[in-house]
Amino acid sequence: MPIYEFLCKICGKQFEVLVSIGGEKDVSCKNCGNGDIEKLVSSFGIGGGSSKLKSASNGCSTCSATSCDTCK
Ligand SMILES: [Zn+2]
Repeated sequence: MPIYEFLCKICGKQFEVLVSIGGEKDVSCKNCGNGDIEKLVSSFGIGGGSSKLKSASNGCSTCSATSCDTCK
């Protein structure tokens, strides 16, 4: 099951919920219990920042080679 991040529109609290397929509409704020929430972008990229691309491919960022000296 994917973990989604939600933002409560009422109290502004951000929280993560493990959501089963089709279960998004049943999610409510963990802080105030309100159902008026907004789903944020999946948390896969969180913490990656600018180093995300670099760590994804150890070598060249242009081609798929792991060690590339020609197209850097
Ligand atoms: Zn709330």
